Amino acid sequence: MNEQDCIFCKIAAGQIPSDRVFEDDVCVAFNDITPQAPTHILLIPREHVDSLDKAAGVQKEMLGHLLLTAAEIARDKGFADDGYRVVVNTNADGGQTVFHLHVHLLAGRPFVFPPG
Ligand code: 5GP
Ligand code: ZN
Repeated sequence: MNEQDCIFCKIAAGQIPSDRVFEDDVCVAFNDITPQAPTHILLIPREHVDSLDKAAGVQKEMLGHLLLTAAEIARDKGFADDGYRVVVNTNADGGQTVFHLHVHLLAGRPFVFPPG
């Protein structure tokens, strides 16, 4: 994936508008354009990484940061106690459609397991 053509790099850079709910120097969180639950937030690293499959040891801190930020958003928005789901779709069978690593944070309804 060429970073110049990456839609999430453009969202992180502010070149494509998004409904941001959180940002810091490592990541940006924004509402998914096609929500699959009452709350559906995407967390992306500012740094381009194609997928979890392509992540490496040097990204350990960034990956931990994404998960802890998801938990922080859940607490801040008041749905942590009810519960939520965090998903990282990876490659074709995982259902990944945008090849810039992202964490889905879903809440506001019960989820079944295993997912379809
Ligand atoms: P994936 O299928 O790769 O795990 O998830 C990609 C997600 O990105 C999908 O849920 C899709 O709705 C969302 N998405 C794709 N393009 C855009 C966009 O331009 N803006 C926003 N906010 N979400 C997007
Ligand atoms: Zn990207």
